[in-house]
Amino acid sequence: MANYDPKSLKAEEFINDGEILETLEYAERHKDDMSLINEILEKARPKKTATGYVCRGLTHREASVLLACENPEVTEKIYAIAEEIKLAFYGNRIVIFAPLYLSNYCVNGCVYCPYHLKNKHITRKKLTQEEIRNEVIALQDMGHKRLAIESGEDPKNNPIEYILECIDTIYSVHHKNGDIRRVNVNIAATTVENYRRLKEAGIGTYILFQETYHKESYLKLHPTGPKHDYDYHTEAMDRAMDGGIDDVGLGVLFGLELYKYEFAGLIMHAEHLEAVHGVGPHTISVPRVKRADDIDPDEFDGGIDDETFAKITACIRLAVPYTGMIISTRESEQVRSKLLRLGISQVSGGSRTSVGGYAGYSSDERPHDTEQFDVSDQRSLDEVVRWLMENGHIPSFCTACYREGRTGDRFMSLCKSGQILNCCHPNALMTLSEYLEDYASPETKAVGYKMVEEELRRIPKDKVREIAARNIEDIKNSNRRDFRF
Ligand code: SAM
Repeated sequence: MANYDPKSLKAEEFINDGEILETLEYAERHKDDMSLINEILEKARPKKTATGYVCRGLTHREASVLLACENPEVTEKIYAIAEEIKLAFYGNRIVIFAPLYLSNYCVNGCVYCPYHLKNKHITRKKLTQEEIRNEVIALQDMGHKRLAIESGEDPKNNPIEYILECIDTIYSVHHKNGDIRRVNVNIAATTVENYRRLKEAGIGTYILFQETYHKESYLKLHPTGPKHDYDYHTEAMDRAMDGGIDDVGLGVLFGLELYKYEFAGLIMHAEHLEAVHGVGPHTISVPRVKRADDIDPDEFDGGIDDETFAKITACIRLAVPYTGMIISTRESEQVRSKLLRLGISQVSGGSRTSVGGYAGYSSDERPHDTEQFDVSDQRSLDEVVRWLMENGHIPSFCTACYREGRTGDRFMSLCKSGQILNCCHPNALMTLSEYLEDYASPETKAVGYKMVEEELRRIPKDKVREIAARNIEDIKNSNRRDFRF
């Protein structure tokens, strides 16, 4: 049997089944041990320093004890600390993005995804470069600056050269005052060489969901195709980092397997990246399996209710305080509202999960024939932006860190330095102002500029505040865009 070793490069050693099972047993044994629980909560709490805050995070064992504890008072404390951490390191900003589906051709057999090879009735589609240009124009006209590209795995139809060409096309489109400034990539596990090529193409984060950390289930849920190889999939982030990509995004598809197992595996994966590469994951996504073309989510073993889902999110926040957390439009407005208070730092808005779902459709029309899953939050981007502001969050279209080379550990240092209010905060306000000026409805614009005014006052350094205010005036009165600190 494999031994647990977070520094190992072998999947079965850094995501070790024996260690996860012992962790679950340990958590079960200690879930009512209030003195241990209080110690863990105290460790998780952000501590004020001369320059800002520091947070120690939690080990997978400590975080699993909190997740197992059923005491409602402890849950409330976990939620309160999650919110404190979010505010300490990410402030009240929420970064906005949209997915762009390039192709749903796929040779895999993933049993939860309608793009699986055996699905003969779903329409297969791959965007041409011309169609991509039209999609990007439609996304820019909504106000998006940051995309996550999505594709099925098919070496003939969607080889890496196709993906690279699409990235080039996306960055080349500048429609009116719009541009896409950061392309994150969610494509199947690949080679170090291909990761290097993605890095050279200027991608932001490389995102790959593990789906499940439970190897036996993984093999059953991915019965055919290259994705069947659990080790190759699980070791992908190490190859991505070897290829020079230092922002990687993890995720589990919650609902497939038992959530406590997945949670321990996810935190172990983060610990492994930190141990081997000196930097943890840039983001963690928390998708839940959804109804789709020939997919019924109730057929899987691990369905979780909204309350459990909220608790998982908050416990991830406590365990990995500096990692961004993403919630997509798979979730409803109501669930998203709750999770935003528990540590989420990025949301998608106005999303389409079909291939070619943006260009030529109005905000309430959505094509279903090539769609990957049902979207619960179907509001337009304008509605999402207004809703965020009305709930005290600053919608941010900022892409400055990655464009200034603040990726990997350099981003984490900024996060830890307490300088966020002098850097990310004004960047958020300037990019929000671009959105308000170029794309917002009059109602959203009014709510937005009121927020910008109030939030400008919170910038501590006089000089930074003055420059930000001047740039915002420029945005209002000219076509000058893309200011950043
Ligand atoms: N093909 C790539 C891969 O295999 O990793 C990634 C792209 S896929 C479009 C993005 C993600 O969608 C998958 O990793 C999976 O977690 C998620 N997904 C698939 N089917 C889903 C469903 N029915 N409900 C919710 N999410 C789903």
